[in-house]
Amino acid sequence: MKTSTFRIIPLSTEVAERARRAVEAGAVDHAFVIADSPSGYPCRHCLRFARPGERMILFPYASVPAGHPYSETGPIFVHAEPCERYCATDEYPDDLRRGRAFRAYNTSFDMIDAEVANGNEPEAIVEKLLRNPETAFVDARSVTHGCYTFRIQRA
Ligand SMILES: [Zn+2]
Repeated sequence: MKTSTFRIIPLSTEVAERARRAVEAGAVDHAFVIADSPSGYPCRHCLRFARPGERMILFPYASVPAGHPYSETGPIFVHAEPCERYCATDEYPDDLRRGRAFRAYNTSFDMIDAEVANGNEPEAIVEKLLRNPETAFVDARSVTHGCYTFRIQRA
């Protein structure tokens, strides 16, 4: 389902490539992991779940930059092999319809609202959070593990 109200912002290719170089260089905070379930390892670059057996890189990412009360750095996965950045940015990614919490931030990176998609269509929650004129962007996170998944901005 296409939307005219918001755009999906996957992890930049630059950050994914930097993680691939860092893990090869032996960075202590970057690790190879092998996906062992079909819905536990979402790649933040292509916004698909890794298939069991695929090799992923686990590394810390600052979704909210340092220098703010809500600064946050946490673990994310990207495919170890190059993958195509999610490009259907006017469609909510199908793999990630379930198990997401949505956090709304203002332009100062303060969290001003948050909601879980309890079986509702995630689009409706995103649109609701973006109706608040104070909302600058919305971050989708794992509702169980809390990990940053992707960003959403107004179209
Ligand atoms: Zn990927």
